[in-house]
Amino acid sequence: MEFTKRLAAFRERMRREKLSAFALLHLSNLRYLTGFTGSAGLLVVQPEEAHFYTDGRYREQARLEVQGAQIHIAGPAGLYAEAAHQLARVRRIGVEAPTLTLAAAAALGGKEWKNRLYPTTGWVEQLRAIKTPDEVARLRQAAQLAASIWPRILREIKPGNRERAIAARIEFELRRSGGDGCSFEPIVATGAHGALPHARASAQELKQGDLVVLDYGVWLEGYASDMTRTAGVGRVPVQAREIYGAVLEAQLAALDTVRPGVPTPVVDGAARRVLRKHKLLRYFVHSTGHGVGLEIHENPRLGQWMRRDQPPPVLEAGNVITIEPGVYLPGWGGVRIEDMVHVTASGAEILTPTPKELLEL
Ligand code: ZN
Ligand code: ZN
Repeated sequence: MEFTKRLAAFRERMRREKLSAFALLHLSNLRYLTGFTGSAGLLVVQPEEAHFYTDGRYREQARLEVQGAQIHIAGPAGLYAEAAHQLARVRRIGVEAPTLTLAAAAALGGKEWKNRLYPTTGWVEQLRAIKTPDEVARLRQAAQLAASIWPRILREIKPGNRERAIAARIEFELRRSGGDGCSFEPIVATGAHGALPHARASAQELKQGDLVVLDYGVWLEGYASDMTRTAGVGRVPVQAREIYGAVLEAQLAALDTVRPGVPTPVVDGAARRVLRKHKLLRYFVHSTGHGVGLEIHENPRLGQWMRRDQPPPVLEAGNVITIEPGVYLPGWGGVRIEDMVHVTASGAEILTPTPKELLEL
């Protein structure tokens, strides 16, 4: 039922843009439109029919999962050749520009591919940004599962323990609690490592008085969660406490703006204003948040808006986003606090139940 509606919404977009065929390759989009969870597939959507191509490894899985499209198992010539056959008489074929390689373009469109393929960006991603109540329920469950292991992770925050050991504990606990694994490689960044927003967990030992940034998430039934907390290894210096307070203030200010109809740069701007007040803005080196769903980073993006030719995205009921300002001082360390948030009809539901006061463990 869900898949029928999604495909209908996608066909409506094709109709508006006068496209009679579309070839999709991006796996999260295939999953969203058909239910297929495998790692190789191609979906051709036409006004009255849809064809799903995969290879022999996924014959049975495609039969069990794919809805709304006729299934074809490609022979030795490969998925593109099979799909190209179906598309042989189509003059203009919509494709996903960010996913399509030049090799795939040539295989799909033949010699005339430059004239035949019509590049698009974000058509399915735009649909995916508005979650159904069922999707929100899965994301809520994923956020709660990740939060449920937090007390056990806190026990690992002690001098002498290594970043890597804590990352391993996070992975272990998430799987043991029923998750399908980490939605991204956990970030455990202590001391100066905390100044790298995407630090890799290393052999670095935690030291008394350090801050440690922990950013992790879980897959649950195809949906990702994402949360960050920063904790002290024992008592931390006054400066660390002050920076923590500023980041928390920025995070709460951004959260406070979340409701339908609000342009995303307004949310981002609320966090930036607080950090500017604390003279920390130049140390905030990423955007305030991102959508989360079938992928860890998806629409809408919550950052500064530099384009003059288009209005910025606006929050809509059904968006599930993160709010995650941070401050990164080179050579010193970092603080980030991240919650997952559901944009409801009237405001915001915070999906991450974990407390946010500074813990000095
Ligand atoms: Zn995160
Ligand atoms: Zn995030």
